[in-house]
Amino acid sequence: MPNPPAVPLPPGFLARMKPLLGEEFDSFEQAMQQAPVSGLRVNTLKLSVEQFTAMTPAPLGQPVSWCESAFVLPDSDFRFGGHPFHQAGLYYLQDPSAMSPAEMLFSVPMRGDETVLDLAAAPGGKTTHLAALMNGRGLLVANEIKDKRVGHLIQNLERWGAENVVVTNETPERLADHFSAFFDRVLVDAPCSGEGMFRKDMGARADWSEDMVQGCAVRQGNILRVAAKLVKPGGYLLYSTCTFAPEEDEAVLQQLMDETGHFRVVELPKKPGFMVGRPDWLGLPDTAMELSGAVRLFPHRLPGEGHFACLLQRVDAENESNLPGETRLPVPTRQQLGFWREFAGKLLNANLMEERLRVAGERLIYLPQLTPSLGRLRVPMPGIWLGFLKKDRFEPAHPLALFLRPGQANNTLDLAADSRELVAYLRGETLPSDGLPGWLVVTVEGWPIGWGKRVQGVVKNHYPRGWM
Ligand code: SAM
Repeated sequence: MPNPPAVPLPPGFLARMKPLLGEEFDSFEQAMQQAPVSGLRVNTLKLSVEQFTAMTPAPLGQPVSWCESAFVLPDSDFRFGGHPFHQAGLYYLQDPSAMSPAEMLFSVPMRGDETVLDLAAAPGGKTTHLAALMNGRGLLVANEIKDKRVGHLIQNLERWGAENVVVTNETPERLADHFSAFFDRVLVDAPCSGEGMFRKDMGARADWSEDMVQGCAVRQGNILRVAAKLVKPGGYLLYSTCTFAPEEDEAVLQQLMDETGHFRVVELPKKPGFMVGRPDWLGLPDTAMELSGAVRLFPHRLPGEGHFACLLQRVDAENESNLPGETRLPVPTRQQLGFWREFAGKLLNANLMEERLRVAGERLIYLPQLTPSLGRLRVPMPGIWLGFLKKDRFEPAHPLALFLRPGQANNTLDLAADSRELVAYLRGETLPSDGLPGWLVVTVEGWPIGWGKRVQGVVKNHYPRGWM
């Protein structure tokens, strides 16, 4: 795709930043004219950083100092996004600064199985990161309000292969009605004026105005007020934006703390290059100085774009809510269970618990262990979609292949990452191949990437069109 035409940095934006940054302004302005930085975060649910480093198809660059599983990608023509390891869900490509919110939410270690909500989740950058940090424990609810953005979120999560994630498509208000004081941790990665994305998003530059900043601040205040109700007493709320405007950052948090009186700022660790929160930029009173416990990331100080993150803890003693662990989805019939057992017994070497199986229409779903009642919420992804329940058999679905780890399928067709066969498979073509007939998992250098079905020396292609 050709690069979009360059749009100058909005003069009104630069005029606002100059007095705020003072002596740092010149290097900030210079950095804002440079190309954006990209990062790669390894999917530690599937493999370790060391394993990935040993098999990376191109140099990875320096580690990201605030995220153990990530690297700043060097300037090169290599497209990590087009490599089959990406399709196999071995990594996520993300601005290094955007890796700070999930890390900061877990700067206070997890205590046992926790419930975590990502309130504004699409396309899923931070959800995949949260899932990796939770390492399969607890429950992660990823919510996206906009119908159009949910598909992308689900696809990224399916590729990631996490087993404890539910996707909802709701307004914050409806979630708060259902999940009042339920979550141990809530991430609010709020929609914002996007000043921190100006190096990579020309549209954000073109759309920016002073009025937009004020409008975003009002919307953020509304979202945060509702998000606050979702947090358990003692639980944590991480608020982040990709903008520098203090009206959308410190001011929104101060308003929430003033209104509710039951949140305190938890000081975040300051990694190299991080700036502290700046309540002074708003001329807030001394009592607001605890907001300096937040962090601000700037492109002239570190390899990444602009970001803001602040961690709050709910400190009142309201009762937390415990939702019963029931969903409205039915369990499979005895016959359906038989079809699944026949398939799984022959093909899989993975320990999937039958009590977590549910049926949604024609789909067989593997629920997260801690699935609570979801009431009448819109739930486009209640768990891992294992496959289709046909009249007389079970047929596997793509997310099941991506959920499997090396060695968990008994019949595979392994292809080299740079082979012509793999390119053909990812284009939807059939492959000549002798071996055991029936369903098989196509793997790239051992990593599951999709399904095929061998019939008379040919592997029929079951790679989904939407993923090609
Ligand atoms: N967390 C995502 C990630 O890391 O990939 C990016 C989230 S983006 C900054 C903000 C999200 O907020 C968008 O997906 C947008 O659809 C959603 N959003 C917009 N208005 C909202 C509202 N009123 N309440 C909740 N979410 C909203």
